[in-house]
Amino acid sequence: MNIIKTVQQLKAYVQEEKRLGRQIGLVPTMGFLHEGHLSLAKRAREENETVIMSIFVNPLQFGPNEDFEQYPRDLERDAKLAASAGVDCIFAPSVEEMYPEPPMIKMTVTDRTDKLCGEKRPGHFDGVVTVVSKLFHLTEADQAYFGLKDAQQFAVIEGLVKSLNFPVKLVGVETVREEDGLAKSSRNIYLTVEERQKAPHLQRGLQAGVQVAEQGEKDPYRVQEAAREYLLAYSGADLDYVELLSYPELKELERVEGRMILAAAVKYSKARLIDNIIFSVNEGK
Ligand code: AMP
Repeated sequence: MNIIKTVQQLKAYVQEEKRLGRQIGLVPTMGFLHEGHLSLAKRAREENETVIMSIFVNPLQFGPNEDFEQYPRDLERDAKLAASAGVDCIFAPSVEEMYPEPPMIKMTVTDRTDKLCGEKRPGHFDGVVTVVSKLFHLTEADQAYFGLKDAQQFAVIEGLVKSLNFPVKLVGVETVREEDGLAKSSRNIYLTVEERQKAPHLQRGLQAGVQVAEQGEKDPYRVQEAAREYLLAYSGADLDYVELLSYPELKELERVEGRMILAAAVKYSKARLIDNIIFSVNEGK
């Protein structure tokens, strides 16, 4: 497996793979890999001749009081895990390599970001689309793999690809979880022992809300509140948001119908965790 740190080397690598007529699958990550990332890599492995994984903690998508400095990093460990999942090439640039000059162009996402993390983390998705655009260009990926744990990110990147006509096919991959239901996340290492025990309630709270919808409740507020009440009672965390919206448009609903997302973000002492359920209910109930 290649580990490439410069744009120039990456371009040469991509050029050669393209010359050989190989389909390229891209898996963008911030590293500190876990089975969630590896499931994206394995899927990319099955569907492409060449798999490139980027590992880059992107400063543009972190707010001033967020965990950019503390974000866990371990390239040696990541390289072993990526190789075991069949990755051909890791692209792990420095911040200076990715952003060598002060920006001349700023990308602003104008839809699908006024709710959920977009509302709570101003500028976050502007940073995401900037780095993802650069990665799409640099890797010339035919297919790119993203996790549905970050469902808003997937919806925004879908908008990016559509708006700017990127010639890439997006693949959304189901969330990989611990046995007790907690979504795998690089940030789970920040949880204290007690918080780790309570954290699976994040998913259970969302399931409690979805269950209310499945039982026929048509008022979106009641579905959302069922999840909120559960999370307040059991998660042991501060609630950042709990929202039921249409998916992927991320608009408020008048009625519980169509494809929806019930999503929540909670804050433990050192970790902010997100999770969601994307679902539809049978009409006529
Ligand atoms: P990150 O390193 O957190 O930026 O994540 C990189 C990619 O892995 C994103 O597309 C995430 O949505 C995806 N991802 C993160 N956690 C999981 C998980 N538990 N299951 C599936 N995909 C995940």
